[in-house]
Amino acid sequence: MTNKYMYFIANWKMFGSLNSLNSLHNVVKFLKKFKKNKYTKIIYCPPNTLIRPMSKKLKNSNIVVGAQNCHENQKYGAFTGFVNSAMLKNVGAKYVIIGHSENRKSGESNKLINAKIKSALKANLKIIFCIGETLKEKRKKITKKILNKQIKLGLDHIKNKKNIIIAYEPVWSIGTGLIPKAKELYDIIDFIKKKYKNNKVLYGGSVNPKNINELKSIDNIDGYLIGGASQDSKKFIDIIKKTYN
Ligand code: PEP
Repeated sequence: MTNKYMYFIANWKMFGSLNSLNSLHNVVKFLKKFKKNKYTKIIYCPPNTLIRPMSKKLKNSNIVVGAQNCHENQKYGAFTGFVNSAMLKNVGAKYVIIGHSENRKSGESNKLINAKIKSALKANLKIIFCIGETLKEKRKKITKKILNKQIKLGLDHIKNKKNIIIAYEPVWSIGTGLIPKAKELYDIIDFIKKKYKNNKVLYGGSVNPKNINELKSIDNIDGYLIGGASQDSKKFIDIIKKTYN
């Protein structure tokens, strides 16, 4: 794969301090000199506490900042501990991850996810919409049924989908070191693309410098959502370089 436009989304989860922003320097420097930089879209999604300082640090680069979740209510309100999409936009976020399995696990329903997506689109944020099956669902061979339901309900009544990127993240793959078999993954990405026409579909789940060669051979994937490995700038750069090699 040489000249394909690819997304590299760094999900820092609940990690990172002001000091960790120093490591971004390596990524900015790398991207400036990288021969394939016009095909490379890097989006950092740090915890909310770092969105503003990170946006400032990345101001003169092509790297953009996103958030990891948002409240579904568009207006300000009495929702202690929460932040809405307009507030994220206000501090520099351009994207927001919605439907991550770690949040689905703590109770986010497809209906709530749908409300969050609608609210974030209204605030002019782009969406990284996560879907994926659990191990139990995979074993029951109902992966496609689950994905279909997540897409259908998550995107219910959303006509304009051009600002929505889907990230297929099998729950059993996140943080475990396990990735789907190449043929299986190709087939699922193809299924999602057919269901959800004209859109980018990313893969997420234990992407690292060791398995990227295998993943990049699956040519219908438009990029990666990277958790653990994205917190280490060397590993993150290595993944990007190997993707284009
Ligand atoms: C994620 O958090 O979305 C993720 C894919 O994590 P990891 O790369 O650590 O599996």
